[in-house]
Amino acid sequence: MRPEVLNPLFAAADSLKGVGAKLEKPLDRLGLTRVKDFAYHLPDRFIERRRVGALAEAGIGEHIIVKLTADQYRASGSGRGPFRVMATDAEGAQIALTYFGRASFSAKKLLPLNEARWVAGKLEQYGDTLQMVHPDHVAEDGGTALGQTCEPVYPLSDGLTGGRLQPLVEQALDLLPELPEWIEPSVMDRRGWPSWRDALHLVHRARHKEARDRLAYDELFASALALMLVRADNRRRKGIPMQGDGHVRDRLTLPFALTGAQQRSIREIEGDMAQPHPMLRLLQGDVGSGKTVVALLAMLNAIECGKQAALLAPTEILARQHHATLQEMARGTGIEIALLTGRDKGRARESILMGLLDGSVNIVVGTHAIFQESVSYRDLGLVVIDEQHRFGVGQRLMLQQKARGTAHCLAMTATPIPRTLLLAQHGEMEVSQLDELPPGRKPIDTRVVPTERMDDVVAGLVRHVQSGRQAYWVCPMVHENEREDLAAAEERFDALKAVLGEGNVTLVHGQLRPEIKDANMVRFASGEVAVLVATTVIEVGVNVPNASLMVIEQAERFGLAQLHQLRGRVGRGAAESVCLLLRGQTLSETGRERLALMRETQDGFRLAEEDLRLRGGGEILGTRQSGETAFRVATPEQITELLEAAHDDARLLIDRAGANLEGARGEAARIALYLFERDYGVQLLRGG
Ligand code: ADP
Ligand code: MG
Repeated sequence: MRPEVLNPLFAAADSLKGVGAKLEKPLDRLGLTRVKDFAYHLPDRFIERRRVGALAEAGIGEHIIVKLTADQYRASGSGRGPFRVMATDAEGAQIALTYFGRASFSAKKLLPLNEARWVAGKLEQYGDTLQMVHPDHVAEDGGTALGQTCEPVYPLSDGLTGGRLQPLVEQALDLLPELPEWIEPSVMDRRGWPSWRDALHLVHRARHKEARDRLAYDELFASALALMLVRADNRRRKGIPMQGDGHVRDRLTLPFALTGAQQRSIREIEGDMAQPHPMLRLLQGDVGSGKTVVALLAMLNAIECGKQAALLAPTEILARQHHATLQEMARGTGIEIALLTGRDKGRARESILMGLLDGSVNIVVGTHAIFQESVSYRDLGLVVIDEQHRFGVGQRLMLQQKARGTAHCLAMTATPIPRTLLLAQHGEMEVSQLDELPPGRKPIDTRVVPTERMDDVVAGLVRHVQSGRQAYWVCPMVHENEREDLAAAEERFDALKAVLGEGNVTLVHGQLRPEIKDANMVRFASGEVAVLVATTVIEVGVNVPNASLMVIEQAERFGLAQLHQLRGRVGRGAAESVCLLLRGQTLSETGRERLALMRETQDGFRLAEEDLRLRGGGEILGTRQSGETAFRVATPEQITELLEAAHDDARLLIDRAGANLEGARGEAARIALYLFERDYGVQLLRGG
């Protein structure tokens, strides 16, 4: 149960005055659903205004507050141009207050002729007159109605203006309770940090590094603490030591020798599984580093001990592929591998459920359907979570939880997580790294191509297909509006069909019915169709070795980690592979740098570090895709700067207060866990 003191913060957004049905969607898009979200909706920047007695005191480009008197209205001749209110200041200097479109209607009301008004806005030069376009504020007196001299500028969404949002933030701030302090007093002193409540007030008033840092630290601290509690809980849990005798693995005939990194990882996993408490290990390895076979060996270890194993995949496509791959690899072993997804119904499903219950199914591969209540196992010994970064931290821990009891857990990710983030994301786990690719991989020839050269790109695609090879064509999800995104992908699909012929192109995106999506995917994977047009759904784990060309449209829209994952779909067969990054006409400095890096390196770690530097941690943390934000407040710089200290602070707290978080600071820390929705940490305390 959430501590009562937090109740006002968790009240729904519509408990604030002025939030009606019309604002619901815009607020939702920004994640503003509860009172606390408004308090944590931090300004991007501030407009700083200077109060001046006369226009002559101000510079062009400066934001000012000045007293003006309107003396003439000028509508444009056609009625279509801007509406201008000509006004003079105390010294008789003239300025045009310019309004476009519908704003013109209110201009006369705001600025009646021959009356003085205080006006706030940005001073500009237009020809040889001064002007202010759409003044930010106009008021009769120069007091608060005019806006602050330092005004926060908030991230907004369609249908929500700053004027609407600010009073809501103010109301939320008024509702903030005093909370007990969870940060070590010496840390507060040394850094000169304000209390939690003061910090939230301050960050909305002006740029305030200490206040911002404090809030980021809170979040990092709560996250570190939650993961430590999970880890501590795990150590207390009894597991079943498993040390297979190799009788199943001996029957496995792999077409390749394991790499050194694979051998080392397997030894580490076996070491954990032999312990009397459940394994919690992350297997981290770049795309194509061969995680699947490591997972198989771990699962066979469990099976040799008479246990069952489950492999959880984030998508149905991937589950099917894993099922096929594992069956192929394990052919000689005589073990039973079943596939279970949310779509399987009726008799087939019943028979798999029976098999899991009576133990005749040794391995089940599937989506989260494998953890539904209706699914019971005879004796589940190991759970493998593939592409775990697709599941947010909370979701992952929940799955682990469900699988628990005594089962060992192996999570796998292709996302190279920089050291700084490893702690924040996986503090509860041991980590094994596959830092070596299987031999013989060819580098992927990566090129950046301007979109204007589309015709050449399509011609190249035609030649590629004619030579019997396959290709991916990826369209980004860029619009706020999903329909528009799909329109873009569908348009490209139609265009390529026109060139290559109906039967040679297929389309996969998230809005297709799963059976159609799968069918299309299978047609591509089997080689029947040469080109797969897709949104980023293919990012995860798909393996089609004959596909050796990857075209990514508007590549600058993607993060490096995502581009790296996408590119990793090619370069899997014997042929030389090419990746074409199509870029738009306008490219930001960062965009340019990102694409250049993609050309330069294929090292996932390097790309991840750079991505963190250039763009922010969210993507590496893999939470953007899964819709769960790991860090809402902390920026990449703050993560780098504060994470270790926050981690040490959490450690110290557990050392003193124990894993039950006793004492005053322990109590305060529990509140922080709820506040940042790391409550799974607290649930564990209560043996949940
Ligand atoms: P990922 O780590 O991306 O999940 P996979 O497990 O799908 O990688 O492996 C990628 C490809 O590499 C597969 O075709 C797999 O059979 C192959 N592979 C895995 N290990 C080795 C190895 N030691 N030597 C050669 N090929 C390997
Ligand atoms: Mg994989």
